[in-house]
Amino acid sequence: MTVRFTLNDQRIEAEPGQTVMNAAQAAGIAIPALCHDRTLTPVGSCGLCGVEVEGRRGAFTACTLPIVDGMVVRSETAAVLRTRRQILALLLREYHDAGYASADPETEFMYWVRRYGLPMPPAREPRHAVNSDPNPFVWVDLNKCIHCNRCVRACAEVQGRFVWGIAGRGRDSRIVAGADTTLLEARCESCGACVAYCPTGALDDKLSVGAGRPDTIVTTTCGYCGVGCRFDLHVRDGRILRVASNPHAAVNGMSLCVKGRYGHAFVHHPDRLATPRVRRYLIEGSGRPPGRGDWVDTDWETALTLIAEKLAGIRRASGADAIGVLSSAKCTNEENFLAQKFARQVIGTHNVDHCARLCHASTVAGLAMAYGSGAMSNTFDDLCGHAEAILIIGSNTTEQHPVFGARIRQAVLKRGVKLVVADPRRVDIAEFAMLHLRHRPGTDVALINGLMQVMLKNGWQDQAFIDTRCDGFEAFRATVEAYTPEAVSLTTGVSVQDLNEAAALLALNKPMAVIWAMGITQHTTGVPNVLSLSNLQMLLGNMGVPGGGVNPLRGQNNVQGACDMGALPNVFPGYQHVTDERVRAKFESAWQLEGAPAGVPLFTGVPGMASTDMVHALRGGKLRALYIIGEDPLLTDPDLNDVRACFDACEFIVVQEIFPSDTAARADVLLPAAAFFEKDGTFTNTERRIQRVHAALKPIGQALPDWEVLAQVAKRMLAIDGRRPVGPHAGWDYPAPAAVMDEIAALTPSYAGVSHARLDRGEQLFWPVPGPDHPGTPILHVGRFARGKGMFYAIDHLPPEELPDADFPLLLTTGRVLYHWHGGEMTRRVKGLLEIYPESLVEIHPEDALRFGLDGSRHVTVTSRRGRMRAKALLTERVSPGVVFANFHFPGDQNINNVTIFALDPVARIPEYKVCAVKIARVDPA
Ligand code: SF4
Repeated sequence: MTVRFTLNDQRIEAEPGQTVMNAAQAAGIAIPALCHDRTLTPVGSCGLCGVEVEGRRGAFTACTLPIVDGMVVRSETAAVLRTRRQILALLLREYHDAGYASADPETEFMYWVRRYGLPMPPAREPRHAVNSDPNPFVWVDLNKCIHCNRCVRACAEVQGRFVWGIAGRGRDSRIVAGADTTLLEARCESCGACVAYCPTGALDDKLSVGAGRPDTIVTTTCGYCGVGCRFDLHVRDGRILRVASNPHAAVNGMSLCVKGRYGHAFVHHPDRLATPRVRRYLIEGSGRPPGRGDWVDTDWETALTLIAEKLAGIRRASGADAIGVLSSAKCTNEENFLAQKFARQVIGTHNVDHCARLCHASTVAGLAMAYGSGAMSNTFDDLCGHAEAILIIGSNTTEQHPVFGARIRQAVLKRGVKLVVADPRRVDIAEFAMLHLRHRPGTDVALINGLMQVMLKNGWQDQAFIDTRCDGFEAFRATVEAYTPEAVSLTTGVSVQDLNEAAALLALNKPMAVIWAMGITQHTTGVPNVLSLSNLQMLLGNMGVPGGGVNPLRGQNNVQGACDMGALPNVFPGYQHVTDERVRAKFESAWQLEGAPAGVPLFTGVPGMASTDMVHALRGGKLRALYIIGEDPLLTDPDLNDVRACFDACEFIVVQEIFPSDTAARADVLLPAAAFFEKDGTFTNTERRIQRVHAALKPIGQALPDWEVLAQVAKRMLAIDGRRPVGPHAGWDYPAPAAVMDEIAALTPSYAGVSHARLDRGEQLFWPVPGPDHPGTPILHVGRFARGKGMFYAIDHLPPEELPDADFPLLLTTGRVLYHWHGGEMTRRVKGLLEIYPESLVEIHPEDALRFGLDGSRHVTVTSRRGRMRAKALLTERVSPGVVFANFHFPGDQNINNVTIFALDPVARIPEYKVCAVKIARVDPA
């Protein structure tokens, strides 16, 4: 049903209950407002949006006025305009501009002041100090504050924090940060939402104040996490002035996190690699010296020819499988597609992998086994809008997927979603949970089986769903029966009462969605953990429905896309198995080369090596060369002392990177790559939503986008081999990434309907998109699982590879923090982020601190059987006694991967970063 009303003689249709302001905005009619934003609760306090209604006396605020059918509204009468000028004049009397140059092209307040022709008031003494807050990102100038309180409401309603409040009364009232110190939630995350919502510049971006106005604004997608926020880059003279919210961003609207909004300065950092470099011994044709010797800056032609000749030589001598390619989840879909095409078509090996091996390989494998598709089944909008209950297990959502984390907080605060958090640490999102299950690290299967045992005992399963859509239920049920709450409590440390309560909350509030991340996947039991969660959602019939599903949150910006593109050793793009003869025939026909030996197939049907296996194959010489694109295994792999020895044994290493890294230090050829602000293409976020990436800057120095570098090496290798393209997609003459996407669409059924043109029109495409007219698939497994019937697996709890003992009495678990990103190569080069989080911290429970002689937060060593790292101790009850937590963002002797264990899930080949045994010792000042 719709209602109709007239606004300034224009007939408008609206939804019942809609306000005049929202309907006017939807119809493209501007009504001024300063306290209002469509994403905030309307308060009608500034009065600027006053309108007249025929037949009623006085003025009404359009932002709070609900439409009544037949209503006649006027927003531009002489009286309305007179009132607006009076309001603006009053606000201007309090407003003082200290004259610093804002980077904002024009604030909303100044726009309306100019539009209504008001003169600026004479200069007067400021009442407040300018730049009055110590936050490294938020510039506070209360002289410009007009008390609209949008910042206060944005912090509470959008971010789910309550940092800003109002102090004082009347003329002395002012916004203050951190007024309510009793609120645990009142912790600033430097997300900048307050700045984005401020209409006057009273709050501004500290990094941008004084930078001046942009000459270009480019909308692109964030290159940090898998949430996939979009924003506007303000650029002038080839430099980023600031990142601004784009209110039309489909994933995030006005929201961004601290990294997305303020983590951009790395792109101009003097450490950027700008010139190709090769080792002197390669130029001189001499033997490789220890440590590989000096670097020599060179030109692209020399570097590319050298790479092609060296790789071709190794392949001639030892076969294609003596070479491995590591692609990158930081790169675009188009680049990942070309990386695996380079490995498979040009080199002739399935030895291609990327960092999904270290984060969600168990998700991809486990969900494919249970359902036939290894991706998030539902979307953010769907989860936040329809779920009645949510289980977050092994995901520090508000720190690692901050904008989605904030949306979950909104769903709890506004809709009363029942949230259960299962995590060994008291992660921030646990503050919003009805129950926090603090199980011991490595006991996830026991915990989930325990919850399902209670559900089955109470008959809470969805038997109709199980009977019609699933196989394997009886064997599963028989296994789960042994996991009584009492037994599970002993294994996990979670009380029987909490187990029973959690089971009831999750089973009786439908639909229920499960969300997880690396707390589930980075175990030797990563695949069984994922299969247990698959079991849970089939048991409750929560698959293929809005508000339910399995929702692994992918880490890197494009780790979903890198997997989709086949940068994996066992599948071509679109998860088409290399073992499938018909699939191989299809790719062979598409990528056919003239000059290849007759009768010899282009590809074998044997999957290649996982990255974790490639590294160890370097030592024995089974793998002689590595081509690494944007990855830093010497920072991110476990048990680094061993990994360093493996890399030292490798004969030839090519690295394409934006910064020098620990891995780059062991390269033979180092190529300068473009950063994501300098690239064109697409990323696929964790929801399977494919989004455009637009270059806002030219690559620094001689740097090139990774896809161009790959194409150049490929052409030279094919020329050395005397092979020419014959198949319809065999060539490497791509004019732009759009042409690569066309090839992806031609060869990848789930991307068949994707094109840059559709995305540029603003279409929101979630794969599978099987054709050019298909709208995409926001929810997977509706009515039928991708594999037909869903499969229950009977899973038993298995302990981690290494548990504490007398020599190493503490359990180490690892993860990330809000202010840094993965290997930290970008965030460690951003000033404000380093101010907030300058060094590696290790969380230690105060009881353990006492036990091991720490008398306060001081530096400690963390030692395992494999190595040692040094960090500052943070004494906190976020961890349980007996558990220490460390992040992996810092290199050298601060790197926790000197300590972690190389123990792999046997199917997914993912390392067990979440559990190993360590000891700590205080470092006394020298
Ligand atoms: Fe970028 Fe993720 Fe932050 Fe969004 S939540 S701004 S995608 S890092």
